[in-house]
This record gives sequence, structure tokens and C-alpha cells, in this order.
Amino acid sequence: MTGSGDTPLGDRLKARIDADGPIGVDDFMAACLGDAQDGYYQQSDPFGSQGDFTTAPEISGLFGEMCGLYLAHMFERAGAPSQTSVIELGPGRGTLMRDMRHVWAQLMPKMTECPVHLLETSQHLRQLQADLLGDADTSWHGEIDTLLAASSGPLFGVANEFFDALPVTQLIRHHGNWHHRQVAVHDGRLTFAIGPVANDLPIPFDEQAASHDDMSDGTVIEHCPLADSVMSALASAIARRGGAILIVDYGSNGNPGDSLQAVAAHKPVDIFHMPGAADLSHWVDFAALGRVASAAGARLIPPVSQGRFLLQVGLAERAEAAGKLADPETRRALYAAVDRLTSPAQMGTVFKMALLVPDGDGLPPGFAHDDLQEDPTSKGQEGQER
Ligand code: SAH
Repeated sequence: MTGSGDTPLGDRLKARIDADGPIGVDDFMAACLGDAQDGYYQQSDPFGSQGDFTTAPEISGLFGEMCGLYLAHMFERAGAPSQTSVIELGPGRGTLMRDMRHVWAQLMPKMTECPVHLLETSQHLRQLQADLLGDADTSWHGEIDTLLAASSGPLFGVANEFFDALPVTQLIRHHGNWHHRQVAVHDGRLTFAIGPVANDLPIPFDEQAASHDDMSDGTVIEHCPLADSVMSALASAIARRGGAILIVDYGSNGNPGDSLQAVAAHKPVDIFHMPGAADLSHWVDFAALGRVASAAGARLIPPVSQGRFLLQVGLAERAEAAGKLADPETRRALYAAVDRLTSPAQMGTVFKMALLVPDGDGLPPGFAHDDLQEDPTSKGQEGQER
């Protein structure tokens, strides 16, 4: 796979590779998304119908309402602890937090008084978030450790399409060995290359590689070290301090293989197309996040599909109640939003929802598997929203 690379960032990456040699897939992804000058999230607004992809909170306020209701329920179950901090990882435009706070203002005012701590690296998006969150007591952090140090008490919050944006490393099977997959320059273009043999395989590569020794040449597996370290820090804080964090993302309950993808203007494009101008993301490995959470003393309740979760916690009833008070056009929009968020042909199956809580037993509402028709661990089909 090759691409034109004809952006300022693409030119800089090529010059760097020409000078210093091939770079890891994770370095490439980190530069494309996070470069301080030309990274994707430093630029204009990528979300919504005019942007490159539409996320659930941007489809309808119903999504934020349901997440807000759910967290209010978990907060109440925990005894409505004072000194709680509300957090969000990768808040985008800030729409989800705004919509959750709107619900809390009506049903759980105590939660609107909690300080809000946001993990966000993009200065541009921080500004949009500040504009949207108005009077909230909001602080921004660039690292999870800083966020955790600055906040106190139990943590209630959400991460929607955050983990899929963290840089992923890839290994590729080649002549019976696992090699690091790299990004090189060939004939003046950025392209994938097979790098050095991977000797000390990090977990979960280790398990994957051991069970995949018979895999054919060209097979790719992924690992997201930054997702592991963010989850590890968050999980150990949840274990000590209590709380509940909804983790929503597209992904599977196991290694997704080669899932790195690029999207521009709602269409898939080549990974090397216009570096910095297209969104890059990968499928989240919820099983890997779950292992990290357990090792840190917390519990990641395994994911159920977004459609299943939202319907189980009452999305359809909520839309119907709102629809009764609305004009016909708004009512149609509400029902269309329910369909987009829940139907398997749209976001319903590909997107998953998991819950990070302190160690314990039992399944809170929305995560009961007993009457689950579909396999919650299935990969589902390609979504249309990314
Ligand atoms: N949750 C939002 C946006 C998802 S896009 C929504 O659903 O609409 C990913 C978000 O994560 C963006 O806000 C992006 O700037 C942020 N992000 C990406 N990498 C990050 C990192 N390493 N640290 C903190 N935030 C990051």
C-alpha cells in the first residue's frame, strides 16, 4: 500500500525516514494524529456531517442522555459520594459531556457540581470544549497521570472513540518469524515495510504469537502500548478510589489483526493518503484492556454491543417519550437516530460498550449477557460511521 504523502507532514515524515530510516507504525500514527503543527486533531473540526466521520454523540443528544443517565445510576448505586470527579478521555467537541451534564442538571444536580477533568491533547479541541461546557468547573490535562493527580475522589466518566485513536504497533508474519511492521519510503512514497525480527514480544503479542505460530506470511497483529498504560493508570485509580467509566469504541474482544484504517470525508482512504489530513484509527482490543484492568486490581466488564446496551437501558422508550412532545420532523429525526445508534447495519454491532469498575462480582444493568442474542465478542461488520 502506498500513498502520495503530499502534505507538509507527509514531506517531513519522508525527510525524516530518508535521514534516519524507517519508523514504527505507531510513530507514523502518532505523527499523523498528534503532530503539534500538522496533526489531524490540531486542525479543523473533524467531526459531524461536514467533517470526516460522525461519532455517536454527534448523531444525537440521545446518546449523551443515555450515558448521563447510566452514570447517574452508577453514582447513586455508589451512594452519591461527595468529592467525586467527572472525567472524559478524548472529548472531541465536548458534545457528550455537555449532553450528560444536561441530564444531570435535571436528575442528579450533585453531579453537575463535580469538577470536570478532561484528557485532551489538541489545543484546538480544548477551545471548542471550553466554549461548549460554559460554566462547568473544567480542567484540561495532556496525560492521564496528571489528570489523576489533579482530581480527587471516585471517578465517573466516559471515553468514546478515544482508545481507537491511540498509536498502535503492528507485527507482521514473515518467513516463519514475527517482524516489526514499519513505514518506509519507496520511490518517493510512504509505504509499509517489514522491519527487524521482534525478539521480546510484549504481552499480548506473546500470547497471540504463541497461538499463531502456524500463521501464514503476511498475517498482522496489533498492540496499543499507550492504551495499556492509560488503562493501567485509570484502573488502579478506580480500584483505589471507586467509580465507573464507560468505555465505548469500535473493536473486538481479542486481537483484531490488521485493523488500522484511514478515513477522509466519510470514505475509507489509503493509510498513506495525505498524512495529517485523514483520520487514522484502529479497532480496540477490549480483551487486552480487560487484562490490564485486572492486573491493576480493577475490573473491565466485558463489552456488549452498543445497540444492545442502549436498548437495554431504555433508549427506545426515551426516544418515544421525547417524540410524543415533538413535531413530526423532530420525531422522525429521533427515530432515525435510534436506528443509526443501534442497528447492526450501522453502529449497533461494531461499536461496543464496556464498563471499568472496582473489582467485584455481578453485572450492572446493560451488561447482562443472559438474554443476549448476538455474541458480544463478535467482530461484527464494518461500521459506516468511521
Ligand atoms: N469523544 C469524541 C471525540 C473522539 S475523537 C466523540 O465521540 O465525538 C478522539 C479524541 O481523542 C479527540 O478529542 C482527540 O483530540 C483525543 N485524543 C487523541 N489522542 C489523544 C491522546 N494521546 N491524549 C489525549 N487525547 C487524545
